Amino acid sequence: MTRRPYIVGNWKMHGTRAMLSEARTIDRAAQRHMKVEVALAPPYTLIHPIHREAEQIAVGAQDCHEADGGAHTGDISAAMVADAGASFVILGHSERRQNHRETDALVRAKAEAALAAGLKIIMCCGESADTRESGKAVAFVKAQLKASLPPADAMPADVAERLTVAYEPIWAIGTGTAATTDDIAEMHGEIRALLIQLFGEEQGSEVRILYGGSVKPDNAAEIFAVPEVGGALVGGASLTADSLMGIALAASEPSAN
Ligand code: PEP
Repeated sequence: MTRRPYIVGNWKMHGTRAMLSEARTIDRAAQRHMKVEVALAPPYTLIHPIHREAEQIAVGAQDCHEADGGAHTGDISAAMVADAGASFVILGHSERRQNHRETDALVRAKAEAALAAGLKIIMCCGESADTRESGKAVAFVKAQLKASLPPADAMPADVAERLTVAYEPIWAIGTGTAATTDDIAEMHGEIRALLIQLFGEEQGSEVRILYGGSVKPDNAAEIFAVPEVGGALVGGASLTADSLMGIALAASEPSAN
């Protein structure tokens, strides 16, 4: 990893105000792990309260609408989450692609809206178990990622600052079974090559590529040792400060593990 490792907790649809004390604990612990960048993506309702108190961690949203505003009952715009204190948004998560039928084109429109609102984006990609078994995982993920990202001329000049990619094989999310380090190495290498092809050597080689899918404190160190892994997008294990910061510790002190 050439840049600071990036550990992002995706709280999904978990968390009421009772979880604010956990976020506080994560924020305090992150101040002791400055070699690692720690961020939380709580439900929309907790973005502002966590942002208001956070001294170290960044706060982000788990999605946003592609339009600036209008008659979209129940939706929320990129400008709104930015106004609440979000500095980034996760886009194209497989749960959004599956549960809300989000297409690559829609995800790309959301990415353009988020960047225009000044947000950083974490762009998710990942294959199903069937796709992996059919031997087409690399081709699928590269095509999905390319179609979900705005083209280079629609990206800000500081692509590496504004874009993070998260490789999350769908079959590894929430299952307790992470991808093998060989599979992660292969996919992250392919994603790196694609990012360089799309955005040039200078920016494309600096974009952080996170792995997501059943990352826990006890498997984090071996995953972070894989070339081109720049951190983790963490679901279940991000809900307590102990487990999220266990993962952050593995990223900050790789030699100790
Ligand atoms: C996720 O949904 O982004 C994720 C990685 O979940 P988990 O860590 O629970 O597998």
